[in-house]
Amino acid sequence: MSAARVLILGGTGEARALATELVDRPAWWVVSSLAGRVREPRLPPGQVRVGGFGGVAGLAGYLREQRINAVVDATHPFAAVITCSAAEAAEAVGVPLLLLRRPGWTAPEGASWHWVPTLAAAAEALTELGERVFLTTGRGGLATFAHLDEHWFLVRTVEPPVPPTPARMRVLRDRGPFSVAGERALLTGHRIDVLVTKDSGGQMTAAKLTAAHELGVAVLIQARPAIPEVATEPDVAAAVRWLEQVLGRGSLHR
Ligand code: NAP
Repeated sequence: MSAARVLILGGTGEARALATELVDRPAWWVVSSLAGRVREPRLPPGQVRVGGFGGVAGLAGYLREQRINAVVDATHPFAAVITCSAAEAAEAVGVPLLLLRRPGWTAPEGASWHWVPTLAAAAEALTELGERVFLTTGRGGLATFAHLDEHWFLVRTVEPPVPPTPARMRVLRDRGPFSVAGERALLTGHRIDVLVTKDSGGQMTAAKLTAAHELGVAVLIQARPAIPEVATEPDVAAAVRWLEQVLGRGSLHR
């Protein structure tokens, strides 16, 4: 029996963990795909391809050419374009697709978070919530806050920000995992009034929410974009079970 060919759409810890889980099993052949946004990405084990596919048609062509048997979309919850492309391409080619999507965050008991649908709405809401802002929404959305001259921003990004950016800001280049103690030190050290984040979910970057709650820092959180109606699982173990079931390769556990 030839190996089942699986494409993992990646860029997340879950995508790397899934590749790690599958890569040494002879019954499976796995390729992970990265968008190529980060200069020194954390690479998953096994085969990796980098760069966009060229929209739905490009991805559908790739699935055909590479004779992919199943796709796991393990991209970030806010990577909405590739998630829609994957759903359309998989349907067009007739390849089973799983969306591996970690659960979103929920406010701790007693905390009331300010939910907003877009970063533009977050920028608008900031006027009410405070002047000193910890912005953790990624460098892509920084331009949305660039006009807010009255505010001071601590901006944490993996890659250096590109203009337009807020006039008053300090950039901290870092990526998770972060600890509660470290986040507490950042919030107090910079006298932060409000934390702005996306509902990314997961443990890697959740510590800032605990620290904000402890310190009474307001939380402004962008809700996730809608997802297509496809099979969805919350974690790597469930994704492996889905693959076993769909491709009939038996238990992967040693
Ligand atoms: P996006 O807006 O959904 O995608 C924009 C375009 O980038 C897609 O149309 C696709 O190009 C390409 N692309 C995205 N993910 C890809 C992948 N895994 N492999 C190949 N091409 C990919 O995505 P994004 O928000 O810019 O995120 C880019 C990547 O960074 C994702 O893989 C995501 O998992 C990761 N990431 C994103 C965030 C976030 O907050 N958005 C946070 C952490 C990690 P084509 O149309 O040409 O195929």
